[in-house]
Amino acid sequence: MAYVIEESVCIACGACEDNCPVNAISMQGDVYAINDDCISCGACADICPVGAPVEE
Ligand code: SF4
Ligand code: SF4
Repeated sequence: MAYVIEESVCIACGACEDNCPVNAISMQGDVYAINDDCISCGACADICPVGAPVEE
């Protein structure tokens, strides 16, 4: 199971992008998104201040 960022929750702070070990997170439009490289480590969910990344 990979993680996804809930668009309606993400405040685009960018904290998760810097903490993803496989660089699977990037800005897509107004918010951040996770691509298929995600290894489900959970680091983005741990660091996100608003709980936007969730396991799919
Ligand atoms: S769960 Fe881990 S690998 Fe997947 S996007 Fe978040 S930080 Fe990156
Ligand atoms: S840490 Fe959370 S709020 Fe910040 S860009 Fe990532 S998903 Fe969005």
